[in-house]
Amino acid sequence: MAKNGYELVVFDMDGVLVDVHSSWAFVHDHFDVTNDHSLEAYLKGEIDDLEFIRRDIALWKQKKEGISKNDLKKILKNVPIMPGYEDCLECFKEDGFKTAIISGGLKPLALMIGKDYFDHIKANDVDTDGKKLNGEGILEVPLNDKGKVFDELISQLDISPEKTVSVGNSFIDAPMLERSGLGISFDPADEKVRYAADMVITEKDLTKVWKTVSSL
Ligand SMILES: [Mg+2]
Repeated sequence: MAKNGYELVVFDMDGVLVDVHSSWAFVHDHFDVTNDHSLEAYLKGEIDDLEFIRRDIALWKQKKEGISKNDLKKILKNVPIMPGYEDCLECFKEDGFKTAIISGGLKPLALMIGKDYFDHIKANDVDTDGKKLNGEGILEVPLNDKGKVFDELISQLDISPEKTVSVGNSFIDAPMLERSGLGISFDPADEKVRYAADMVITEKDLTKVWKTVSSL
């Protein structure tokens, strides 16, 4: 029993642990490209997650032939971390929480920021032929089905949903927030995530997440 009956805390990454709305879009901005067309096609159901990722990677390869995973990591090192990140996670760890990231964002970034704090990291990645990006994606978190990834994780950990806290900032996170004993929308980007949440934090300060959980 970690705190107030909660044992596991699950975080979305983009817009929650890092202060950018999308880690993929952060790389697009770096290369001065946009994926508006494929985003529209994805939202209409015309392409699946892996095709969406493939098209994103193709945009980068057009700008930098032979782009490597290290090149990508160098770009992602500039992503700003959300204020309060370390304090918040240290408190959860000290209190014995199991911790997880479930993100549709880039796994290299999740590993960079999260390896010291998170027991489980689910996110999406680029495939390589050793070093260079080969154009394919590695899908762990379908954008339209974070609920399934959440269900699989808690079943693997043998934790019931009411003993979990989920934190997210967009409609993509709503299925996690609805399933969790405590759903927190952090700096919410849309109405759907607000409605799915039990608590709303409007300040960009992750220590508020810890304070919310520990004050219940
Ligand atoms: Mg997000």
